[in-house]
Amino acid sequence: MKNEIASSQDTIVALATPAGIGAIGVIRLSGNNAITISNEVFKGKDLSKAASHTIHFGTIRDGEKVLDEVLVSVFIAPKSFTKENVVEISCHGSNYIIRQIIQLLVKTGARLAQPGEFTKRAFLHGQFDLPQAEAVADLIAADSEAAHKAALNQMRGGFSQEISALREKLIHFASMIELELDFGEEDVEFASREALHALVNELKAVITSLIASFDLGNVIKNGVPTVIAGKPNAGKSTLLNALLNEEKAIVSDIPGTTRDFIEDEINIEGISFRFIDTAGLRDTTDEIEAIGVERTQEKMKQASLIIYMVDLAAASPVEVGQEINRLENLGIPFIMVGNKVDRVSTDQLEAFNTFDLILLSALDKASLESLRQKILEIVHLDSFKTGNTIVTNLRHYESLLKTKQALDDVIQGINNQVTNDLLALDIRTALHHLGEITGDITTDDLLANIFGKFCIGK
Ligand code: GDP
Repeated sequence: MKNEIASSQDTIVALATPAGIGAIGVIRLSGNNAITISNEVFKGKDLSKAASHTIHFGTIRDGEKVLDEVLVSVFIAPKSFTKENVVEISCHGSNYIIRQIIQLLVKTGARLAQPGEFTKRAFLHGQFDLPQAEAVADLIAADSEAAHKAALNQMRGGFSQEISALREKLIHFASMIELELDFGEEDVEFASREALHALVNELKAVITSLIASFDLGNVIKNGVPTVIAGKPNAGKSTLLNALLNEEKAIVSDIPGTTRDFIEDEINIEGISFRFIDTAGLRDTTDEIEAIGVERTQEKMKQASLIIYMVDLAAASPVEVGQEINRLENLGIPFIMVGNKVDRVSTDQLEAFNTFDLILLSALDKASLESLRQKILEIVHLDSFKTGNTIVTNLRHYESLLKTKQALDDVIQGINNQVTNDLLALDIRTALHHLGEITGDITTDDLLANIFGKFCIGK
């Protein structure tokens, strides 16, 4: 199927660099006629004679009119991103020039590319599998070191190679069992149930660890949702400002000022944290503030990490103990911060000795380092650091869950000695979902959905 789509393709063109004014803009063409079409409008070297991976200086002309001086890079199929003939024209980055050149190329026989069409073609020509193609989008969107690393790992093959290998083995079992079906009543066994059981377990182990990695993957891609909570005036907004290094939250000494949520991203050692400053947690008669407090409690439940602040100058050790109990009951990782150390004496501090508190003064940025370290410690990034594969894509995650369910059914089927046709059916279901991940099984809808999210030119 892949080759069929490949051969019927026309030549597409789009701006590959961001729209807007820049020093240069790169216009990309891909398809059988990419070189012929470019050659018709390019004055310089005869591109039809150019070797692959060469760059040529010349002008783009519409008849006699010179549109721009450009550099043209030539990539001859299959040694290009799309595995088709590709030409990249680097022109001056003016909207006018870019528009004129693209219009000229369309007039000469190219067609405007759809969103993600270059990457889609690369996928259809077997340049990479579906997770790798999806990683291209993630890589472009990654704005933290961790997200970048996860996307790069996936683009380099990541888990799909592992899944493909196991899927091949499972296909073999499926055909053996289907062969047994052909023998009907005869008592033949081509596929050892024991070996099948072992393979399914092996697959399940891989799938289960990939499913488990999604929480971390999600965190890496979208940031760790972190709530800063505590009584009014504890110093939550001050802390957020200090972490953000700018005045985003409103700081005041009138209790209850932070009524709504302020969200911002902070990058700590390459991992992005989505900080949510919240309304304080006191009992209140103010209606609007009461809503804020309620929403704070909701937000706390959704957080991956809670930073709970107490004002050491105002809180008693008994109170702090109670707060810690309450947080433990929530079951969400939390860090207890004792703020305003500058306002309490060493003796007063002694009273809090029994608690695991990070002591700091939100007004003194230097004292925040221990908090940063604690935050990193809490968010387990060990598996990320060791380079384990991490699933960051919701589509993969959903297919993995379905695969796991199907594999459970296979195991149950073996244990209950169900008939071969039922067993074969469950294996086929598992294969289907695995194939959805690797892209061995695709539908037009699926491809449209994935590549439609890319920008034009990608
Ligand atoms: P929130 O209600 O928890 O958000 O508290 P704010 O961040 O608005 O802080 C309340 C008041 O405490 C402000 O006047 C801050 O300047 C002050 N504050 C915050 N942190 C510290 C600190 O570490 N030391 C001292 N002395 N004052 C602080």
